[in-house]
Amino acid sequence: MTDSGARVNLLGLDRDGLIAYCESLGEKKFRAIQLQRWIHRHCEGDFENMTDLAKSFRAKLQDKCEIRAPQPIWDKVSMDGTRKWLFDVGNGNAVETVFIPEDDRGTLCISTQAGCAMGCLFCSTGKQGFNRNLTAAEVIGQLWHAERELRASLGVTDPNDRVISNVVLMGMGEPLQNLDNVIPALKLMLDDNSYGLSRRRVTLSTCGLVLQMDKLAAAVPVALAVSLHAPTDELRDMIMPINRKHPLNELMAACKRYLAHAPRDYITFEYVMLGGVNDQIEHAKGLVKLVKGVSCKFNLIPFNPFPDSDLKKPKAEDVKAFQDYLMKAGIVTTVRKTRGDDIDAACGQLAGNVKDKTRRAERLVQQKAQATFLMKKE
Ligand code: SAH
Ligand code: SF4
Repeated sequence: MTDSGARVNLLGLDRDGLIAYCESLGEKKFRAIQLQRWIHRHCEGDFENMTDLAKSFRAKLQDKCEIRAPQPIWDKVSMDGTRKWLFDVGNGNAVETVFIPEDDRGTLCISTQAGCAMGCLFCSTGKQGFNRNLTAAEVIGQLWHAERELRASLGVTDPNDRVISNVVLMGMGEPLQNLDNVIPALKLMLDDNSYGLSRRRVTLSTCGLVLQMDKLAAAVPVALAVSLHAPTDELRDMIMPINRKHPLNELMAACKRYLAHAPRDYITFEYVMLGGVNDQIEHAKGLVKLVKGVSCKFNLIPFNPFPDSDLKKPKAEDVKAFQDYLMKAGIVTTVRKTRGDDIDAACGQLAGNVKDKTRRAERLVQQKAQATFLMKKE
């Protein structure tokens, strides 16, 4: 078999998937686990190098399978050490992945969709429209590829020494719209025979798809970040179209349900601060009321502009006052440091390439009118 399209890509199969596949080849369960360790612990991509697998097994794998991650089109390193890859996912689409090194951890921010259909007003990915869900292999492939390259560049050879200690699903796309592929990828991240990350070190960020939050809780309850961005339905409806489907009372109820399963005893609320739109003390007051009864922390993200965004960064003093207000109300609140903005790797700046299938351009005209309206209210 030479045609790559006909081969089974093993990269996206979680433990159960690999066991079932190996059994279909007449191989025992422990062989599947050995194979899993080669692929995801050693980040090995060539069956020939999997030296402790029987030759006959390797021959079968070579004949029928492949280990195929998305190919990088380029990667860039920022002045602050942040590294960004652009991965080709076919048909003119490309997604972005960002590695953020810090003193005590290395965090990889991965994408889950080519584009996003949620259309949030302040987001560069949303503005690009939507093409398709990434496959499980494409989601986990970003981690596989990044870990492999980072290890090579740092000269790390022991598979137990991981460069990436944390993963956040905060890149392009809405992960809960792609649960079928995100769940096996998350399982691989947590599995000790793969990346072995604890549930606390894997964070999924959602704009608030409440039904899927329950599904995630039942399947693989990793740490949850919820993009809140407004204290009232009136304002949230304007900047996040999803709110018209699932308003704040539904979202808060879903957060409370999730907490029963969450690996940490709080939910992180992300709050993009848009200058003159949602960054005043009245908004902070509204938030304190809104989240009463939901154990949470806040992460304030000063808006990162992108071409044609029409929205403004908040003033530094407004961010500080907002943070102080929440802290005084007893809510732990951090302000996200902007990393990698010289390579457009900051939150909301990820654009990749998206062949839009959703006639987004037409809806943008309407969004622009909304942004202008919001700024006038300043
Ligand atoms: N779709 C998911 C995850 C991807 S977006 C979600 O919306 O949560 C990751 C985070 O970046 C979200 O909190 C999002 O609101 C934020 N974000 C989007 N655009 C931004 C921008 N221009 N500046 C700062 N943060 C932004
Ligand atoms: Fe999609 Fe998240 Fe961007 Fe909204 S903020 S458009 S949900 S990626």
